[in-house]
Amino acid sequence: MDNTQEKMDKIISLAKRRGFIYPGSEIYGGLQNSWDFGPLGAEMKTNIKTEWWNYFVRRRGDMVGVDTALIMNNKVWEASGHLANFSDPLSECEKCHRRFRTDHLELDAKCPDCDGELSASRQFNMMLKTYLGVTEEKASEVYFRPETAQGMFVNFQNIIDSLRIKLPFGVAQIGKAFRNEITPGNYIFRTREFEQMEIEYFISAPKKDSDWQNHFEAWREDMQKWIAHIGIKSDEIYELDLPQNELAHYSKRTIDFEYYFPFGRKELYGLAYRTDFDLKNHSLKYRDNETGEEYYPHVIEPTFGVERTLLAAMCSAYTEEDAPTSEENGTEKRVVMKFPKWLAPIKIAVLPLSKKDELVNISQKLANDLRQDFVVVHDETQSIGKRYRRQDEIGTPYCLTIDFDSLTDGKITVRDRDTMKQDRINISESVKYLKEKMTEVI
Ligand code: ATP
Repeated sequence: MDNTQEKMDKIISLAKRRGFIYPGSEIYGGLQNSWDFGPLGAEMKTNIKTEWWNYFVRRRGDMVGVDTALIMNNKVWEASGHLANFSDPLSECEKCHRRFRTDHLELDAKCPDCDGELSASRQFNMMLKTYLGVTEEKASEVYFRPETAQGMFVNFQNIIDSLRIKLPFGVAQIGKAFRNEITPGNYIFRTREFEQMEIEYFISAPKKDSDWQNHFEAWREDMQKWIAHIGIKSDEIYELDLPQNELAHYSKRTIDFEYYFPFGRKELYGLAYRTDFDLKNHSLKYRDNETGEEYYPHVIEPTFGVERTLLAAMCSAYTEEDAPTSEENGTEKRVVMKFPKWLAPIKIAVLPLSKKDELVNISQKLANDLRQDFVVVHDETQSIGKRYRRQDEIGTPYCLTIDFDSLTDGKITVRDRDTMKQDRINISESVKYLKEKMTEVI
């Protein structure tokens, strides 16, 4: 289907109805651009974070992970430049007082809402303030981290000392970040509270350009592989190599991996070569024990948003297609979330054809056995056709049906989400069969 706002609206409605994403604080009228992840959304976020951690940390010999504090000493943000520079240009409408990011407006624009005059642009710091302790004084004013990166930089020496690790190596972290965004919006795309999965990859001070470029290219390829792994096709991504005049002052090269969202082509992930800017700011040097040389390591930073991953994966997976009905030549529209199997929130639905005890006893036992290895639902309500459609809509890769023949032949039917083909297998072999199926690449 067309990649339009209509598609976005369908996804938002499905996500609410089926328990992926709810508006935040809904029963009290909501809170501007805040979202809660329901049972299926929570499963998917967990899948994304676990898979990412396995992919980028555990399966590599040159990576370690950390989990650092959300609130850090203010000196961290002074050294990193966030207190002085972490700002976006803001213009305010003099009539309706709505605020806009100046860099998102056309030159000489009026207020997009009421056509009022806009104020001159000023810099607005996006650090989210709070207080530590019982007094709301200046002395106890602190900030929620706007990125997970600094927690990795400031622990650089600790990690070297405790692990005796040598360059090049990377540190990864998954966690919340907070930004007082001027214009949050586009559903979960831009919120003030979100999760990041970031890597700081430390390399020795390059002697020639190819010394950092080779690492940069390797990370670019790894990011492309990860993007394919979450079910996004290469033609859904645009790699924007930022021109020199748009690079942050510390970056020598940045690629934005932009995804064609239904609301436009926008940043999904970023990859930046940050030179020695970060460790120099924190005065953290590396000593090469073989040569005795001391220097500031350079950094390649691949960065990923958890919610943007989820949103892009949902947009890519959303499919509408014609499916046959039980009537001859009959068809009906079915909505299928064609998630990669590892990402699907529910892996298996166990569906007894009738609510009769003799079937439900078997199906409940089967569901419990499978729960040791998979996320499973047991559903005995409504017609089997409707139950299949419900599972298709949330992307469940396999439905198992138990019918009256199962009582005599000990077999069940396995239905594949994508092909809708059905296979008859022995109940006793179902765990083994599904384990094999689940690891097949689609
Ligand atoms: P943008 O240009 O969209 O504001 P950014 O360049 O400021 O993004 P980074 O600072 O590079 O973003 O943050 C790293 C990653 O964190 C982004 O690639 C994105 O996936 C995610 N991210 C950043 N800001 C938000 C936000 N407000 N809401 C959700 N995810 C975000």
